[in-house]
Amino acid sequence: MGDSNMAQLGSVALNGTSPKKVAYFYDSDIGNYAYVTGHPMKPHRIRLAHSLIMQYNLYQKMEIYRAKPATRGEMTQFHTDDYIDFLQKVTPDNMDGYMREQGKYNVGDDCPVFDGLFEFCGISAGGSMEGAARLNRQKCDIAVNWAGGLHHAKKCEASGFCYVNDIVLGILELLRFMKRVLYIDIDVHHGDGVEEAFYTTDRVMTVSFHKYGEYFPGTGELRDVGIGQGKHYSVNFPLRDGITDDSYKSIFEPVIENVMKYYQPEAVVLQCGGDSLSGDRLGCFNLSMDGHANCVNYVKSFGLPTLVLGGGGYTMRNVARTWAFETGVLVGQDMERSLPYNEYYEYYAPDFELNVRSSNMENSNSREYLEKITAAVVDNLRQTGPAPSVQMQDVPRKPFGGMTDEEEAELDDLDEDENKDTRMTEHRWDKHVQNDAEFEASDDEDMSRANGATRLKANKRTFTDFRKGETDVESDNATPRDGKSNDNGKEQADEDTHDVNDDTIEDIGAMQEADKEFARDEELPQPEKQQVDEDGDVGMTDSAPVEEAPIKKEEVEPETASEPRPAEKPVAEEPAGQEPPEPAAEKTPAPEPKPAEAEPEKPAEAPEAKADEAPVTEAMEVDEKDKTKDEKEPSPAR
Ligand SMILES: [Zn+2]
Repeated sequence: MGDSNMAQLGSVALNGTSPKKVAYFYDSDIGNYAYVTGHPMKPHRIRLAHSLIMQYNLYQKMEIYRAKPATRGEMTQFHTDDYIDFLQKVTPDNMDGYMREQGKYNVGDDCPVFDGLFEFCGISAGGSMEGAARLNRQKCDIAVNWAGGLHHAKKCEASGFCYVNDIVLGILELLRFMKRVLYIDIDVHHGDGVEEAFYTTDRVMTVSFHKYGEYFPGTGELRDVGIGQGKHYSVNFPLRDGITDDSYKSIFEPVIENVMKYYQPEAVVLQCGGDSLSGDRLGCFNLSMDGHANCVNYVKSFGLPTLVLGGGGYTMRNVARTWAFETGVLVGQDMERSLPYNEYYEYYAPDFELNVRSSNMENSNSREYLEKITAAVVDNLRQTGPAPSVQMQDVPRKPFGGMTDEEEAELDDLDEDENKDTRMTEHRWDKHVQNDAEFEASDDEDMSRANGATRLKANKRTFTDFRKGETDVESDNATPRDGKSNDNGKEQADEDTHDVNDDTIEDIGAMQEADKEFARDEELPQPEKQQVDEDGDVGMTDSAPVEEAPIKKEEVEPETASEPRPAEKPVAEEPAGQEPPEPAAEKTPAPEPKPAEAEPEKPAEAPEAKADEAPVTEAMEVDEKDKTKDEKEPSPAR
């Protein structure tokens, strides 16, 4: 295997740091779920990626787990009970009886009801929560869950193909042990659900690089920096169409370098949405696989406990290629360009290569623009400190984003200068939305087309306040074994509906409610505190060699249906190298009961999260003789 045969990364050497212990989460059921016909989100892509990962023998360098699906109680650590209850009970058969709820929870067009919806959410969230729990317990240095990364889901509504926010749940889990968690989002869309959840806290810094300007979800302006204790702990880098590998690298690395320098996180969550790749069905960036993976490699180079998640990505074959390659980056494995034969080989026609190339599309991000935004972002970062604030203070009423009118005006000017007419501020967007006559279905579709998905209720922000005292971080989100779940609301302030056009924050008082709960901290079991080295490397055994992944054969998968694979119908609008359709949702087999694995070192009373991962379960062989049904895709809705 000559070097020329390998996918090359940019300036960051592959696997520049010491060997990492990688835990990889995969549930073979995931590919059996399907959104409605023609929907761009295809869970089957996770199975494609997994197949490549196995064919490249990456399992030899990581441990593979099938997570216990997140339960209702676990989901309600972030989401409201009534929303989760709805997700649990609604089915395609009974959905007509829930019209009011569908509207209330934004379930419908973009976020359709499909068979096994709740189980699908459970698998996605379970992997992220268990990944976080293993990082907490120092059972691994890196945890990977390609079924996660669903960053648009809100506390009490679905959004942008996302229902349950596995990222927020994973971060909450990390916050039990980690003082500061950094969230990085390289999806083409703004990571709005995660930002919103942690908008008022300095315990989590969210950093999102995304297309901004007439694009879903419409949020993520440079000047949206967080409020209250969270001011300057939300970072947004708005981008234009067509950004290239070099341009992206030129902003990503300095921003993340400064984030690390000023914020000094103890753990990182990296959302690797694949819709920022060139040629994505919904995206508009021009990143190659190498450019995308450079972000993964760069984040890895800091050597912090890291949870790596999937996200968007709507050209399946490219998402699979990239996530497989990035798994290789994480385990430090060079990967040959030509794909090994695998059961989905035909997806990768005509070149059958691992690579995703960029195109010759125009890059609308000028160097001047990128430098200016980078400078503004770094300037904001200088105003942050690494320590979560200890003292709780009243949050003074301030304009939205915590800026003075002058500051806002200044930024508006900057935005106007830079964005010319391609850009729409949130304010203007809201006006646009409102003028569009209360969401006629047709308007909705127009917006979908323009934005990649629809945006509803743009003026509503639901804040969750996770501010705590200096003591540990018992966010009580952990996955209690008894299923009693949480006394919910403990960490969550009441919903704060804020109209951004209002320029004032309502209900700040509600956020203060959480403060009262501090008294309870003493009663709670203290998680064992790790020794944190200077580099923030929470007692990692960096040098431990990675043993061969313990992979067990899965006994028998309860196959409920096995239809012969009919002739495949190519996806209508996919260009050359069409992807065969993924199997339509079949009746999903019940999750396998997994043997519990005792955790001797767990603190006696700590609600230990998800201690029962069984080393997986060799998924592929069992599951992947597809129960494919012909899914013909009409021209997609957007
Ligand atoms: Zn996306």
